[in-house]
Amino acid sequence: RTEETLLEVNNIEVIYNHVILVLKGVSLSVPKGGITALLGGNGAGKTTTLKAISNLLHSERGEVTKGSINYRGEPIAELDPASLVKKGVIQVMEGRHCFEHLTVEENLLTGAYTRGGDIAADLEMVYNYFPRLKERRKSQAGYTSGGEQQMVAIGRALMSKPECILLDEPSMGLAPQLVEEIFGIVKDLNEKEGATFLLAEQNTNVALRFAHYGYILESGRVVMDGPAAELRENPDVKEFYLGMS
Ligand code: ATP
Repeated sequence: RTEETLLEVNNIEVIYNHVILVLKGVSLSVPKGGITALLGGNGAGKTTTLKAISNLLHSERGEVTKGSINYRGEPIAELDPASLVKKGVIQVMEGRHCFEHLTVEENLLTGAYTRGGDIAADLEMVYNYFPRLKERRKSQAGYTSGGEQQMVAIGRALMSKPECILLDEPSMGLAPQLVEEIFGIVKDLNEKEGATFLLAEQNTNVALRFAHYGYILESGRVVMDGPAAELRENPDVKEFYLGMS
C-alpha cells in the first residue's frame, strides 16, 4: 500500500433544510489502495458524509456550509455525479437501487455509459468476481435476491472503471453469510484490482475485520479513528460497537 491520499474531507459541516446541522466538522482522509471504514450507529451521519463527497445532497435539501473536499488535491464540491464518475469516484447507494425491470446484465451495462473501451472485457471481469451474477445474467434484477442485488449494484459501479468506490452500508438487510461473501469480494477487488474503498457500515464487527483504517462517527463528529486492528482492540470500541466488553 502507498500512503498517497486520494480523497480528503476537511472539517465539513452539512445542514439540511437550512437549519438542521447534521455534520459538525468532519475530517477524514482516504489513502489510495486502502479500505477505509466510516462507522457509527443509526443517524450518526455516515450516509450524509458519503453524499456530501459525491455531491448528492441537493435533492435532499442538504448543503455543505463549511469545509472542503478534495480528490487528488483538487476541490470536487462543485462537480456533478457524472463528472465525478469520470474522475474515478463512484457511489454505491444504500438500498442498492437496481433497475428492477432490466436484466442483471443490462443493469451492469448501464454502469459503462460514461465511457468507451472494452466493455465486454469489463463485463467478464465483473462476472469473474461475481460468478453468481453470470449465472443470473438474463434474470430480471427485481426478481433476484437482496444479496444478488447488492452484487449488481457493486458490479454496475465497477463497470465505470472507478478508482475510488464509496459504498454505503453494503451489509444492510443481508444474512451473515452473504455479508461475508460481499466483504470478501470487496477485499479481493482491493487487493487484485487496486480499488480504493470508503465504506459506511453499522456492522462494526465485519467492517473492522476487512478495513485497514476506521473512523467512528457520533452525532456528526468523528470521535475516534485509527488502524482497524487497533480499533478492534480498543476497550471503548469493544464495549459500545462490538457488543462485548
Ligand atoms: P443510517 O445508517 O441510518 O443511514 P447514517 O449514519 O448514515 O445513518 P445519516 O443518514 O447521514 O446517518 O443521517 C444523519 C442525521 O441527519 C440523522 O439525524 C437524520 O435524521 C438526518 N437527516 C438525514 N437526511 C435528512 C434530510 N434529508 N433532512 C433532514 N434531516 C436529515
